[in-house]
Amino acid sequence: MSLYLIICLAVSYVVGIKCIYYRHRRTLVQSLKHIMTAVSGIGCDITALIVTAHPDDECMFFAPAIIRLVESNASVHLLCLSEGNYYDQGTQRKQELINSCAVLGIPASRITIVDHKKLPDDPKAEWSVSLVSSLIEKHIRTHSFNMVLTFDGRGVSGHANHTAIHKAVSHLAFTGQVPNDCCLLSLVTVGLLRKYISFLELPLSWLLPSCLCCIIGSQGYRQAKAAMLCHRTQLLWFRYLYITFSRYMFINTFQMIPQGPKNLKIY
Ligand SMILES: [Zn+2]
Repeated sequence: MSLYLIICLAVSYVVGIKCIYYRHRRTLVQSLKHIMTAVSGIGCDITALIVTAHPDDECMFFAPAIIRLVESNASVHLLCLSEGNYYDQGTQRKQELINSCAVLGIPASRITIVDHKKLPDDPKAEWSVSLVSSLIEKHIRTHSFNMVLTFDGRGVSGHANHTAIHKAVSHLAFTGQVPNDCCLLSLVTVGLLRKYISFLELPLSWLLPSCLCCIIGSQGYRQAKAAMLCHRTQLLWFRYLYITFSRYMFINTFQMIPQGPKNLKIY
């Protein structure tokens, strides 16, 4: 009897996840319009910039958002602030990033990879907030992006280069250096248990308040997995575990980074 109950509960849970997924597919465009209307006053076309620290961040952490934005006809660009040269594999990793983005739907013409000696791929290196924020601001203004998506203060994996980007974007937001019609979104870092229960985490992400929730199904997952496999230099055994169990292979939730008064001078 108890086994029967467990099976019923498990089936109901999976059916519930399916229902959330199909509801999400119907409501995503409205959610995006709502965000753009709240920021710019009009539901304009989205030109989105994903800001990452290393080649592979785009598919390890942001694949659901990129896939859903591309499907929603948004123009999606990537700014990667290092070549991922920690093991002197920068040249290879740049090509892997281009291949991965092609799988996710970002053409090479929309990818910018920064190679700056003060921005090494190194968890012990402290990236300058002013340098990173000026690079990001310049990129936003050059391309007139109206949506920027990046890490939150915990950087998903806690990598210092990820959190440095959040500090820089928060600095731009706080000092009002972001164009009026541009919204800033940070990718929510979840705890270890939630992070590694794959799509089973979906109901929790759906129920908890967030500004934007992007979910992919089995087809999107295959796309995200194919993008991950493009990063051949990174394919150690634990990467396969990540591909199998990480909730970031299926779900992204974002919070809005609040913006301060425009052109505030800090002395
Ligand atoms: Zn990274």
